[in-house]
Amino acid sequence: MRQIFKECSIKKSYERRREVADAVYLAGGSGVLALKSPVKPDCPLVDISALVPKDIVKKDGRLVIGAGATFQDVIDSALVPSWLKDACHLMASMSLRMQATVAGNVASLRDDSYLIPALLAGDTILHVYGEEGEKDVPLADYVHRGGCSCIILALSIDDGCKVGIHRIARSSSSHSAVNVAVGTHGVFACVKGSGFAFDEDDLGKMEYVDDIIDTAAYKRYVARECVDLLKEVDG
Ligand SMILES: Cc1cc2nc3c(=O)[nH]c(=O)nc-3n(C[C@H](O)[C@H](O)[C@H](O)COP(=O)(O)OP(=O)(O)OC[C@H]3O[C@@H](n4cnc5c(N)ncnc54)[C@H](O)[C@@H]3O)c2cc1C
Repeated sequence: MRQIFKECSIKKSYERRREVADAVYLAGGSGVLALKSPVKPDCPLVDISALVPKDIVKKDGRLVIGAGATFQDVIDSALVPSWLKDACHLMASMSLRMQATVAGNVASLRDDSYLIPALLAGDTILHVYGEEGEKDVPLADYVHRGGCSCIILALSIDDGCKVGIHRIARSSSSHSAVNVAVGTHGVFACVKGSGFAFDEDDLGKMEYVDDIIDTAAYKRYVARECVDLLKEVDG
């Protein structure tokens, strides 16, 4: 039987996750509770859904999105720039968008992530709770080191920058082969089977793999084409 812990604070949730072997956080549950989830059905969960902030506000010239905001909350907010709404719309199912949180998507670190390339292009800084209490971590560092056991509390985004996104998938509800974001802060991408690219150099050098999604040659080709297309549009 699965154990679900519900603590009264972020601190206690963090400590619980550290003390229970294999435990993962539960936010929207669209990843951890999904059929064929990499999280096993008997894996203990620490439910943080009622503890993480959900508000979307402007603060110190940046856009701050509470970790518990869902994809649909982001789309519905008048404060959010269109490129980030477009990234949230890549999750085609509205029922999933109403369940899945932005922080859950980041923490999942999926190589077909809907949001991570766009958020990297938005110079995102994560506000997290971890071993040293609350602190800020650039999203690029978080992704580079493969995440951490910390709880993401909020995301701070440069909403004044320009970002263009493009996702290549067989259908709107299929896993993406390539998801690229190009903007003021550079070129970022995730490639199925290969992981994340933080600039064009990474994209050129990364090892592309043949898998059920597509061939390595195709993914390499469309990744390059997406970057060129987005740069051309940016003009
Ligand atoms: C049919 C289907 C298809 C999907 N396809 C895609 C896809 O193509 N691309 C994609 O990116 N996603 C996909 N997803 C996965 C999922 O919907 C998203 O990644 C979602 O954003 C996860 O958010 P959540 O709130 O539901 O997280 P949960 O499922 O609750 O948690 C997911 C992970 O994030 C961690 N986590 C959650 N919140 C926090 C936090 N605040 N701090 C630290 N860690 C946290 C948990 O420990 C867990 O490991 C798909 C899901 C389904 C059901």
